Amino acid sequence: MKLILLGAPGAGKGTLASYLIEKMGIPSISTGNILREAIKNNTPLGQKAKGFMDAGQLVPDDLVINLLEERIAQRDCKSGFILDGFPRTIPQAEALDKIADIDCALSLEVPYEVIAKRMTGRRVCLRCGATYHIEANPPRVEGVCDICGDKLVIRSDDQPDVVKRRHETYHEQTEPLKGYYEAQGKLKSIDGTQGIRETEKLAVAALGL
Ligand code: ADP
Ligand code: ADP
Ligand code: ZN
Repeated sequence: MKLILLGAPGAGKGTLASYLIEKMGIPSISTGNILREAIKNNTPLGQKAKGFMDAGQLVPDDLVINLLEERIAQRDCKSGFILDGFPRTIPQAEALDKIADIDCALSLEVPYEVIAKRMTGRRVCLRCGATYHIEANPPRVEGVCDICGDKLVIRSDDQPDVVKRRHETYHEQTEPLKGYYEAQGKLKSIDGTQGIRETEKLAVAALGL
């Protein structure tokens, strides 16, 4: 299965992806995580991406299309993958259609008021990409990643003003993808406002897993 997770920043894509990886036995690819790692390692890609990310804007299409193409060419993606945060524009979706046969785009529907609350409690691991929430999904030990033991941080783009800007960017540039996949008969939407377990159940039912 080649699955796209759609949804606003903070809708819960990464959290659902970490469940679906286990359930479906395929990898998930987060372009955001790949970009944050590039910034941490100060690579040329990271240097190009940082300014856009800190401003709550999208990184230019050619950069993310290239990195996604390289990633899905790797062997672990042969029997399928989950895309978390790609595509985010119509040109990205068109580029993806040329390199992969997508089965489904699953959209997590969450209003901005709910997202704004979730984002203030988000903590992430920059080493392995795991995501936590101080109340809804806390790590076993405060401030420490369950999976790799690295320290958890607040993302620099999770301050309220940048969250708002990212939401506007989503509305303008990414939400039109729902129409794009609807027209292909591939769009499925679920309510993402419930708890983490409930959302997993809704996704399993929508995907027929
Ligand atoms: P979130 O999980 O909150 O939606 P991501 O980790 O997916 O955030 O993305 C963080 C930032 O990385 C985005 O605001 C954007 O600047 C950049 N980014 C990630 N994926 C893409 C993409 N497909 N196209 C353009 N920019 C991207
Ligand atoms: P995205 O990848 O779409 O940006 P995340 O998966 O990082 O979103 O979720 C954003 C924040 O909300 C994280 O702190 C996460 O732990 C938390 N979260 C995710 N899903 C839920 C949920 N169903 N209920 C409450 N909090 C959630
Ligand atoms: Zn970790």
